[in-house]
Amino acid sequence: MCHPNPQNESRDKNMASYADFYRQSMDQPEAFWTEQAKLIDWHKPFTRVCNYDKPPFAHWYEGGQTNLCHNAVDRHLKDRADQAALIYVSSETGVEKTYSFKELHVEVQRMAASLLAMGVVKGDRVLIYMPMIAEAAFAMLACARLGAIHCVVFGGFASGSLASRIDDATPKVIISADAGSRGGKVVAYKPLLDEAIKLSTHKPDAVLLVDRQLAPMHLVAGRDLLWSTLRAKYMAAQVHCVWLDSTDISYTIYTSGTTGKPKGVQRDTGGYAVALAASMKHIFDGRAGETYFSTSDIGWVVGHSYIVYGPLIAGMATIMYEGLPTQGMDGQPNGAIWWSLVEKYKVTAMFSAPTAVRVLRKQDPALLKKNDLSSLRALFLAGEPLDEPTGRWISEGLNVPIIDNYWQTESGWPIITIANGVEKKASKFGSPGVPMYGYRVKILHESTGEELTQPNEKGVVVIDGPTPPGFMQTIWKDDARFVNTYWKSVPGKMVYSTFDWGIRDEDGYFFILGRTDDVINVAGHRLGTREIEESISGHAGVAEVAVVGVADALKGQVAMAFVVPKESAVLDDAAASLKLEGDIMKRVDGDLGAVARPSRVRFVSALPKTRSGKLLRRAIQAVCEGRDAGDLTTMDDPAALQQIRDRVAAK
Ligand code: AMP
Repeated sequence: MCHPNPQNESRDKNMASYADFYRQSMDQPEAFWTEQAKLIDWHKPFTRVCNYDKPPFAHWYEGGQTNLCHNAVDRHLKDRADQAALIYVSSETGVEKTYSFKELHVEVQRMAASLLAMGVVKGDRVLIYMPMIAEAAFAMLACARLGAIHCVVFGGFASGSLASRIDDATPKVIISADAGSRGGKVVAYKPLLDEAIKLSTHKPDAVLLVDRQLAPMHLVAGRDLLWSTLRAKYMAAQVHCVWLDSTDISYTIYTSGTTGKPKGVQRDTGGYAVALAASMKHIFDGRAGETYFSTSDIGWVVGHSYIVYGPLIAGMATIMYEGLPTQGMDGQPNGAIWWSLVEKYKVTAMFSAPTAVRVLRKQDPALLKKNDLSSLRALFLAGEPLDEPTGRWISEGLNVPIIDNYWQTESGWPIITIANGVEKKASKFGSPGVPMYGYRVKILHESTGEELTQPNEKGVVVIDGPTPPGFMQTIWKDDARFVNTYWKSVPGKMVYSTFDWGIRDEDGYFFILGRTDDVINVAGHRLGTREIEESISGHAGVAEVAVVGVADALKGQVAMAFVVPKESAVLDDAAASLKLEGDIMKRVDGDLGAVARPSRVRFVSALPKTRSGKLLRRAIQAVCEGRDAGDLTTMDDPAALQQIRDRVAAK
């Protein structure tokens, strides 16, 4: 099962051993994190490294004051004002533009001045619903500059999802754009936003819009403002950074869980800045003046940590890319676009997801050899399990270490990986690596909560508190939900549950074996099956529904829906079931966005449940994947599972 990664170098003699580094973080956390804190600028020094008086709430660097935008932008003006900071590349629109740190500083101040003019002050929420354009990064940094809390909502989400996030975040201002574009197809954002604001109870005071001239926009008088107008007005604005307490909130980002209601993961300021600075050095081995390329989206946590804040804090240029991995700047197919960017901008560290590599794997392998990739030191992959064939293919193609890293929206930075900047330890295919400094990772028995210490015993992956800097502080406005959801799921123990199954082998390498809850991972996008079920049950023709994640060769997993229709006649009427399937998919598109659309909707007369009425999702999933459905002694109606088996076998 485990294969040493032949690409990884053996340990450099000058490097410390990672085991020692990790041990220090466990045995002397105060000294360790005090040292890491030197990687950022502090306006006021902290007086207490970690306040863990009220577990599980960890408060990092109390008494200290800093600012994320200062650390990402302003502090670099002294040494690297004219060096590249943000490299914006869109293969959708053909736009390619580099902003130096000085230019980024100017743009961020224009955006900050515009927000100030709209009445935004420290602590106010600003919701950002934007495509991958440079203005989205300006907006995030401008919020950080003012101490406003940004809530970036992934542009692929539709009105229903957006409305629930507007109601939870209650933003004073929303920043958006006329449209995004995907594979040359324009996706108008403004009508989706207008619909979401209509659906939400909370209404923002103002909406700031970037007009890319991709789709017509109807401006709402008294509410909607154009960025071009405000930018022109604040061309020479000077807006100073607001010094924030280390524990002040920097942002919230929504993620899916086991209930339909998304969770606003809340992060602090100082701990996050230190965590990112430390990870850029110790994990990504990125150095100031070099270029970092993360292919993620600002709507996801990777986009926050490793498109915007992390690389900039490290003084690196960051590439922000809009478009498919297989599309050239002229909009024509080009499976080497990313590699040509690596060559052109001399990228040293690249970050992507296994699903993107699986897409590239379908291209001509010669495309990997077309460009000079000698600048690249490592490719980091995260978001979903990295299967061995994919890992091997890209490792052989690029001839650089492929470093899998396991983390979550909640953690903000890798939990398990290889700390390439500390020691270039060998990787094992199928394993993200070993626990990162600051993370006390354990494997516990699912029902007894007992720690599993023997190699290769399967259990739930948990983290003992205090969680390290950068980790979520709480769930926005809901401390009780934070404690109950994450810290009370293992009987008798207060530990943070990742809700992932895992094992640790005899060498201490972890293997992640999938979620313990109802969360699925489609092309690296985390989705709650409950959210999809809620959308589907809203359809008048649906009596009952179960959504499960099913293994897929390209996307990792896809959602599959089993629906009991209100009219049983649908079951025997091919045309009616096809129509209902189409209607249901349209409904999910409208509520949640196409990312959440099930790959198939299949109609059944009953769903398999336990005698106490609990849906047997794991059994449905097993049947869909052609596996054994496991122990079914508590099942109420075995015929229901057989029906699912028949439906799946039918096509
Ligand atoms: P998200 O919060 O969207 O980043 O999703 C986090 C979840 O994605 C984790 O709990 C895992 O189930 C999965 N995940 C992320 N990275 C990896 C990885 N490298 N290997 C296996 N699973 C991963």
